[in-house]
Amino acid sequence: MNPPARRSVWDALGYVLAEQIRADREYPPFDRSTRDGYAVRAVEAKRGATLRCAGEIKAGDTVTAPLAPGTCIQIMTGAAVPPGADAVVMIEFTGRANDLVQFERDTNPHQNIVSRGSEARAGDLALPAGVRLGFAELALAAQVGAAELLCARKPRVAILSTGDEVVLVDETPGPFHIRNSNSVSLAAQVRLAGGEPVPLGNALDRADDLGAKIEQGLQEDVLVLSGGVSMGKYDLVEEVLKSFGAEFYFDAVAIRPGKPTVFGRCRDRMVFGLPGNPVSTMVTFQLFAVPAVDILGGTEARPLPLLEATLGETLKERTGLTHFLPARLEWESGHPEVRALRWQGSGDIATLSRANCFLVVPADRQDIAAGEKVSVLPRGDVL
Ligand code: AMP
Ligand code: MG
Repeated sequence: MNPPARRSVWDALGYVLAEQIRADREYPPFDRSTRDGYAVRAVEAKRGATLRCAGEIKAGDTVTAPLAPGTCIQIMTGAAVPPGADAVVMIEFTGRANDLVQFERDTNPHQNIVSRGSEARAGDLALPAGVRLGFAELALAAQVGAAELLCARKPRVAILSTGDEVVLVDETPGPFHIRNSNSVSLAAQVRLAGGEPVPLGNALDRADDLGAKIEQGLQEDVLVLSGGVSMGKYDLVEEVLKSFGAEFYFDAVAIRPGKPTVFGRCRDRMVFGLPGNPVSTMVTFQLFAVPAVDILGGTEARPLPLLEATLGETLKERTGLTHFLPARLEWESGHPEVRALRWQGSGDIATLSRANCFLVVPADRQDIAAGEKVSVLPRGDVL
């Protein structure tokens, strides 16, 4: 793998952090008011008490003068609480006449103040190495002044489609050709997973062409193939990989779509042979290849983000395989409810484009009645 490189915090979304980031000072750096109101001594601001307002403090003001006994100071959200004050009373619970402020409720010490250093002490670990940088992690890096971050290189994922019928997206297909949509969906899924796609085009269903392109793919960190893993006479992927010395961890999975999925190791590279039907390719990449991209990227494999929802419409499926059906999860009733979409099987990209999730039907369940709880796998991009 390539060495890590420094990236601007503006440009590090989705990368894995390759260094520790520590707090550069106390957080918050001063006792911070979390409300617009009055800084007080809590004992002096009992219900019905009146205090003279001795001034105001805005966010960003330098605050050194202590709060004089018997007074309060108007204070804004994000401003520093003056020495001597131990509470902030929300403006909504006060009444004001000229410079006199009356308090409608009793006041508790510490209310509406976040004390200096209570979120982090200077030198505390803010972000450990190995975290994936999402918007919250980037905000934390920005907060502690880490404008540049050492990021792991994204794993390079070679993408190779196969099939004599497959033409590139910008080519004109003959009447019996189809365009290579799998390489496009795989590249998008690789990006979403935090990898860098390396599209290698399409290999013909011939051992020599397939072999030459697999050879090329094995230069990258992972190789993902689509098509050519079923039982057909021209499904040559496993055979050609074997001739390169591949070992397979599995070459079938009890799921539909996606049964002929192959996963193995070849010349110290992980190799996935995903079935070529477009929905199978997309489902199996999500199930099996995303964790590999995580691990190669230097972070923990994320768990499958299964949700629970109520089935909106009765289902009848064949038993024996776990099904992943294109489906829509909606919250119209305020609760998650999922419905499988009618589809033409695993070649039906159009239906998947209208789905936001897969409904997971366990292998041992033939009929599931509307109203039962079921598992749902979000598509990962739109949901
Ligand atoms: P295979 O897994 O090679 O038997 O292919 C299964 C089905 O998926 C066939 O109908 C193929 O035409 C189709 N298919 C294979 N590769 C692609 C691809 N790259 N893009 C779109 N469809 C494909
Ligand atoms: Mg094929």
